Amino acid sequence: MSRFLLTILAALLLSACAHNAPRNPLATWVPSPNHDVRRPVLVVLHYTEQDSAQRSLDTLRTGNSGGRVSAHYLIGQDGTRYQLVSDVHRAWHAGAGSWGAIGDVNSASIGIELDNDGRAPFAEPLVESLLVLLDDLVTRWRIPPENVIGHSDMAPARKIDPGVQFPWRRLAEHGYGLWPQDGTPPAPADFDVVQALRVVGYPVDDVAAATRAFRMRFRAQASGDLDDEDRRILYALQRGWTIPARPEARVR
Ligand SMILES: [Zn+2]
Repeated sequence: MSRFLLTILAALLLSACAHNAPRNPLATWVPSPNHDVRRPVLVVLHYTEQDSAQRSLDTLRTGNSGGRVSAHYLIGQDGTRYQLVSDVHRAWHAGAGSWGAIGDVNSASIGIELDNDGRAPFAEPLVESLLVLLDDLVTRWRIPPENVIGHSDMAPARKIDPGVQFPWRRLAEHGYGLWPQDGTPPAPADFDVVQALRVVGYPVDDVAAATRAFRMRFRAQASGDLDDEDRRILYALQRGWTIPARPEARVR
């Protein structure tokens, strides 16, 4: 087929897509070409809690007992990246919850499933592959690089993934997600933990759950009640004393 015919075909397909976009019958359709697709503003990380990438691919593409679920991407332990839903579409990975002012997280986010059972350390090729994908997503969609969160951050009462094994500090050192700087001062005596959790982004309708999720992410090995180190970390996050996001990402 000639290049000209291919161009015509592509134009026809594109216009067919445009005509299929839902319109509101309450209004007269006067189309404008001056638009593009919606942009995600958040990345939510999950673990699959399953024993193989193939099993997870099946779960994410079919109905199952807990209802239909999906994610935009799945990364296998060998680093292979699978895409299941286009970046511009709304995958069903986040469910109820919130992060900061974002209530409908599925509408605002890219979901990435990581092939991990929640107990074993994350495979090195998987982490390296994730860093490549995050670089692409943050660059292409101009997602604020600190807006890479875990499922447990936005749904602390329901979820614990990506879990205690996930290397959040390493991610932050590459410029993604929040992590406190070392050596920041202790929290003041009148420090308000709940207010700080809210400022960072955690939903605080269930304070105990939000506190647990914060502890799991930033001090996975700690036990007992929140201590001075937890309060120092939370104070640093609230004040923005975090490992800097990638400078090249910030200026865009
Ligand atoms: Zn999840």
